Amino acid sequence: MSGDRGPEPSPPRFDLTSGRHCLDFVNTLEDRGGAARESLRAYPDLVEFARQAGRVDEATAVELLRRSRREGAAARAVRRRAIELREALYRLLRSGSPGAAAADLALLNRELSSALAERRLEPGGAGWRWSWAPSPDLARPLWPVLLSVSDLLTSEELGATRECRADRCSWLFLDRSRNRSRRWCDMRTCGNRAKARRHYGRVQAARRAAAGASRAPRP
Ligand SMILES: [Zn+2]
Repeated sequence: MSGDRGPEPSPPRFDLTSGRHCLDFVNTLEDRGGAARESLRAYPDLVEFARQAGRVDEATAVELLRRSRREGAAARAVRRRAIELREALYRLLRSGSPGAAAADLALLNRELSSALAERRLEPGGAGWRWSWAPSPDLARPLWPVLLSVSDLLTSEELGATRECRADRCSWLFLDRSRNRSRRWCDMRTCGNRAKARRHYGRVQAARRAAAGASRAPRP
């Protein structure tokens, strides 16, 4: 009944190009507006996302996977929490308004407080640095996402957060273009698809005109 058991599917290659870790996390669901494609199919995918993003090291990833095999029900519960968190973040970030969804904000604050409880100071270099509690809690892959989103929500870059304009894409990204006019999550995929659609529309219109059907209503 769940992908947490049996042979594990090969891990997805995560797209980490949105400009912020929390936005990359939101983008683990593709095409929300259409035939949504889920990248976090089971708990190991969550660990793999954090590992590929450089937010957990190899040893921690191995320990989390080992623990998830021992505690299957708990791992599945964390994966469900991750999906709920992700969709709450999507709604909060696309609206950009703290008043938009009280329930989503409450969920975020709940998860954030449990993540912050795991923050630790440790010696680093000539001084100190922030780190995480060494015990590999199964929710460990979520903690950096929660830090990242709290940073973004309180930064000026929140105003540069965009949702891809492609019909069904729904990916979020930071628009760092000079005139803040970027429309697509990725020009090579969504941008090109939109261009191809416009091109197809022009070709069809030209054909209609040539066939004497130029009175067709304009879009
Ligand atoms: Zn897109």
